[in-house]
Amino acid sequence: MSQLFSHVDVLGTSFTKITNQELLEQLEKDSNAHKNRFVVTANPEIVLFARQNKEYASVLNTADYTTADGIGIVKGARILGRPLPERVTGYDTLLSLLKFANKKSKRVYFLGAKPSVITKIIVKIRQDYPQLIIAGYHDGYFKNESTIVQEIQQSSPDFVFVALGFPKQELFIAHHRNSSQAIWMGVGGSFDVLAGVAKRAPLFWQKHHIEWLYRLFQEPSRFGRMLALPKYLLLIFHAKFKHNK
Ligand code: UDP
Repeated sequence: MSQLFSHVDVLGTSFTKITNQELLEQLEKDSNAHKNRFVVTANPEIVLFARQNKEYASVLNTADYTTADGIGIVKGARILGRPLPERVTGYDTLLSLLKFANKKSKRVYFLGAKPSVITKIIVKIRQDYPQLIIAGYHDGYFKNESTIVQEIQQSSPDFVFVALGFPKQELFIAHHRNSSQAIWMGVGGSFDVLAGVAKRAPLFWQKHHIEWLYRLFQEPSRFGRMLALPKYLLLIFHAKFKHNK
């Protein structure tokens, strides 16, 4: 964890007290200095999973910055009396970093999503971020991990965005981040959103903190996964009352 910022514990996961703007400025600095960095954007599902899985929990501990991806984390931290400044999502951070990479002609490697999705976003990146250098890309359904790692290493990227969903993406990054002096970030389903395959909730839903409900309408099969939310809230209240006793 970076010593530059303070941290807040939410049910065992340590979050960086950081705003979108601060994270962006810090990552720009890190990138210009060719630092190796690992960014995790964690939501309640990730926090719960880390409580059940020791290997994943220790991987999360190796991140340099862990941000609150979703209002659930921001609210949870506030209930526990250790507030975090704001929501810092993987998707927003990805967009900001693409903009920066375009401005500074940085090299970016894109890993993850279905073959049709990755092809689509590469076309979009070439169009929308013409100065950004595509160091390489690969879909997320590969068999030989070491070939991919070699490819990343040889392409010497400044940024590696990994869209394999959790926990795969964080495990992949933690195991392979030393192969390239880059900023590594897991971005979940962001490539699907960027490709227009999955829709992000319109601003109204985001503002009223019901983005999760919009996502449920879009993908009803996520219902099982969403049961993590009430379970997470129960644990938050449990932790609060235990602490206050
Ligand atoms: N994915 C992948 N390889 C895999 C499993 C998943 O590339 O072996 C991709 C999948 O195509 C999708 C993303 O990872 O683009 C996961 O999206 P999801 O919305 O489930 O991620 P979350 O943001 O919830 O972690």
